[in-house]
Amino acid sequence: MYKRILLKISGEALAGENKVGINSKAVGEICDRIKVVSEKKIELAIVVGGGNFWRGRDGHEMDRVTSDYIGMLATVMNALAVKDALESRGVCAVVETAIDMNTIAESYTKRNSEKYLKEGKVVIFAAGTGHPYFSTDTCAALRAVEINAEAILVAKTIDGIYSADPKIDSSAVKYDNISYEDILKKNLKAMDSTSTAICMENNMPLVVFSIFEPDNIIKVVNGENIGTIVK
Ligand code: UDP
Repeated sequence: MYKRILLKISGEALAGENKVGINSKAVGEICDRIKVVSEKKIELAIVVGGGNFWRGRDGHEMDRVTSDYIGMLATVMNALAVKDALESRGVCAVVETAIDMNTIAESYTKRNSEKYLKEGKVVIFAAGTGHPYFSTDTCAALRAVEINAEAILVAKTIDGIYSADPKIDSSAVKYDNISYEDILKKNLKAMDSTSTAICMENNMPLVVFSIFEPDNIIKVVNGENIGTIVK
């Protein structure tokens, strides 16, 4: 059983059937499972993506840095929605942002994050790393290492890591286990290369699984072998 984990939720997962924006039903279903994990006395931090609103790299007609800041702001909207859904379920949650915006959330510090986690609060990291040209996957890797999480649970819209994109290539095979080196060598689209490298250098295990079966979060926490494990 894990003592402290970091859950990465992509923005897409929060959009549910709508594909864009925030879908309260989808957020609610995820938060129901987070509540179960939190009740098991597992310290849980969350990094939320922003792709349901905006991705800086998507070729918007503007300066990339500005575009990335818009993406980071999108993650803050998602974080607030997740916090609200958790609190309405009786789970204490704190949003910590990498960019100061103290009117709506606390600024990230490792010290406070660990204090809240020890108090049993769910800590939601928003605004990514605070730096353009990075991703929330990289933020997940960075924060997991900083707060000494035991693993990163990566909830994706695909049920693991495949040899190719299974939506395009029907011969794609799913890996049950894979090394960081192989992900980098084979250029697999599990996490981006920066985050994979951070995990590799710091021996941070990853478990990649599908968010469409929300019970998967609980299964992973219970040690069931689902999705793909990266070590
Ligand atoms: N972003 C950024 N720096 C970070 C994290 C995120 O600039 O450290 C921006 C970037 O534009 C990214 C967007 O925020 O495209 C949303 O994050 P991401 O694409 O990782 O979200 P996800 O695909 O996980 O929903």
